[in-house]
Amino acid sequence: MYLLYVDMSGNVGQEGEAHFVMAGVAVFERGVHHVICELDKIVGRHFPGHDISEIELHGSPMWGGRKFWRRLSKQKRVALIKDALSVFQGPSGGNLTAFGMVVNKAAVSPDDPVEHAFEQICTRFDKFLTRKYHRERRKERGLIVVDKSRYEDTLQALAHSYRNDGTRWGSLKNLSEVPLFVDSRMSRLVQLADLVSYALWRRHEHDDHGLLVDIVNGFDRDGRVYHGLYHKTLPGVECDCAACASRR
Ligand SMILES: [Zn+2]
Repeated sequence: MYLLYVDMSGNVGQEGEAHFVMAGVAVFERGVHHVICELDKIVGRHFPGHDISEIELHGSPMWGGRKFWRRLSKQKRVALIKDALSVFQGPSGGNLTAFGMVVNKAAVSPDDPVEHAFEQICTRFDKFLTRKYHRERRKERGLIVVDKSRYEDTLQALAHSYRNDGTRWGSLKNLSEVPLFVDSRMSRLVQLADLVSYALWRRHEHDDHGLLVDIVNGFDRDGRVYHGLYHKTLPGVECDCAACASRR
């Protein structure tokens, strides 16, 4: 079984922000433990002597220096984000596949960008599993694990509809029936998904490529085509991001 850990960045109701991002990290079940150990080791290197289970990786407060992160310099906070994202190039990198759905909120209005992104990420994760089956003759199921602090009601309702409404969703052949909701404080992999979503959010909301540059090769792709990256732009907008470029 593959698990897709999902988290998001950007606020749906925030007027001044253009983008909402939902990102996922897919891991084969037997690899989950190794990735957690690698992430714990990285956090431990930055906080020697601390109880690292208390330290939650979370892009927005880390970047902004809020709450727990106030006492650390910007340089140290960004270094930890980048180190955590470096697991895509580490020993577990081959077992990690990233997904990133970037939605310009105005481009889907009046629809809910959370729904739009969730539908995309479910469909793309399902296709990733179908591709595995065709290529490697490996029939694997997929389970989606979502941070429960945000939009749980919306996503629960959607999960219900994707079981019952085959036409809207196409048919998601490989996914287990409902997503699981977990507390992100308890899951390093949901935290990793949060950092991926934050890296994409900075790229699109602030044109800051600094966090994304090291992980762009971690997104699901087939040759030059990034199946794991999706960017919903306003009509007529030219964009040079990897998602848009790979579809031209
Ligand atoms: Zn784009």
